[in-house]
Amino acid sequence: MSKTNDKSLGSGYLRRRDFLGASLGACAMTPFGRVSLLQLATSLSGSLTKEERDGMTPSQIIDELKKGNERFRSGKMTARDYLAEKRASASGQYPAAVILGCVDSRVPAEIVFDTGIGDTFVGRVAGNIVNDDQLGSMEFACGVSGAKVVLVLGHTSCGAVKGAIDDVVLGNLTRLLARIKPAIVETKFDGEKSSKNAAYVDAVARTNVVLGLSEIRRRSTILKDLEKKGTIKITGAMYELSTGVVEFVA
Ligand SMILES: [Zn+2]
Repeated sequence: MSKTNDKSLGSGYLRRRDFLGASLGACAMTPFGRVSLLQLATSLSGSLTKEERDGMTPSQIIDELKKGNERFRSGKMTARDYLAEKRASASGQYPAAVILGCVDSRVPAEIVFDTGIGDTFVGRVAGNIVNDDQLGSMEFACGVSGAKVVLVLGHTSCGAVKGAIDDVVLGNLTRLLARIKPAIVETKFDGEKSSKNAAYVDAVARTNVVLGLSEIRRRSTILKDLEKKGTIKITGAMYELSTGVVEFVA
């Protein structure tokens, strides 16, 4: 797919495609045409460069994440050379997004979005709660390093959300779960409101994502201002454990 054949994707298409994902096999089939040797070398190394990242808008980055999730759930993930990505990114990183996800072992952001080494910052904490340290990490990612998307990623069957619903008291976890409780109060739900009701748990998790976005805007002037200027987008999504689908919810 050449740049001339697909004008709708813009002149940076090949490079963006390389960033979040086309397989090396797919690259080999590409009629490189006007692509320079430098671009080709970059595409084969697999890590996002500053020029590539800066050439994308926040919306384009979100689109690339969606495409990456589509590759993941359809079993067509990028064939990565992690050693090449490691070499390409060792001297500098230019991630396009910062993702706040849950510690749940079944929701590894880099895998469900099919991104490589150096493509995304990822912060993980039970219940993908927004706290001061996660906020500071997001401010570094966007305000210092130049990432353009803040994504809060919740998921179905979240144990932390169940724990908050059940009022679990356990060491330091108690205080963490307290940060999820506003989502319980805010969730409008007809039906059994218990941790045994999967639909209710997922509804609370979804509210927790939406409230997390509000928290980011309320507690970080830096991120709020970057969003107002259009430099970044702040968005939220839910990952469905059984299907692998990421649904953007806000
Ligand atoms: Zn979870």
